[in-house]
Amino acid sequence: MDPSTGRQAMSMTLTDRMPRGVYLFDGELAGRSAGDDGPAVMCLSYTWADDSLKLVPLRATERMDLMLESLAAIYPAVDVRSHIIAPPLTVSWEMERNFVGAFRANLPGQYRYQERLFTHFMQADLPERHRGIFLAGDDISWTAGWAEGAVQTALNAVWGVMNQLGGACDPANPGPGDVFAQYAPLRLPDVR
Ligand SMILES: Cc1cc2nc3c(=O)[nH]c(=O)nc-3n(C[C@H](O)[C@H](O)[C@H](O)COP(=O)(O)OP(=O)(O)OC[C@H]3O[C@@H](n4cnc5c(N)ncnc54)[C@H](O)[C@@H]3O)c2cc1C
Repeated sequence: MDPSTGRQAMSMTLTDRMPRGVYLFDGELAGRSAGDDGPAVMCLSYTWADDSLKLVPLRATERMDLMLESLAAIYPAVDVRSHIIAPPLTVSWEMERNFVGAFRANLPGQYRYQERLFTHFMQADLPERHRGIFLAGDDISWTAGWAEGAVQTALNAVWGVMNQLGGACDPANPGPGDVFAQYAPLRLPDVR
């Protein structure tokens, strides 16, 4: 807390400087409740693509130093470094095994895959033996890379499971499958 303003000295930060996105995680750690000055975690830089690739050659401490330098320019009165209680950890998404990039199945030329994945929860036209498996999450989202799309696919999957088990929505509160014909994405024919 900044006594001169009565407001928090630092908060979640979105910036066009190097860190791009800085997130603060307060935690109920070591028996202390959130917000009482107990140990916490800072996500110093949450980035992807060009922004994160620039950091790939740097070690964790070098990355931290860069980010703290940027933050010092944004928050000149906050000495983040003096609060460090553990060495920095870093994950480079692009260096992880099985990384297939953001927006897979959402790129030009992939519409047919995307449409089939996204709408798979509507299984009435599938042969009986192919029914009953429901996927959810970013991998089948209509808007991969955005949490909203992942949540949307979860709601679709829940509707699919309910339907598979013989359930139904309240008519006053229709689910995604009930209004599918109205909102379904266009199905394109296969091309050879
Ligand atoms: C750098 C970055 C910035 C982003 N910024 C934004 C943003 O500003 N706004 C926004 O809306 N979205 C943003 N997103 C996207 C958002 O994070 C995702 O769309 C969302 O998290 C997808 O949710 P999900 O549940 O489908 O998958 P995830 O959140 O990836 O969850 C999948 C979970 O499955 C676990 N898992 C994987 N394999 C296994 C296994 N074999 N067994 C058990 N568990 C397993 C993983 O550990 C993970 O916890 C960002 C993503 C990234 C990478």
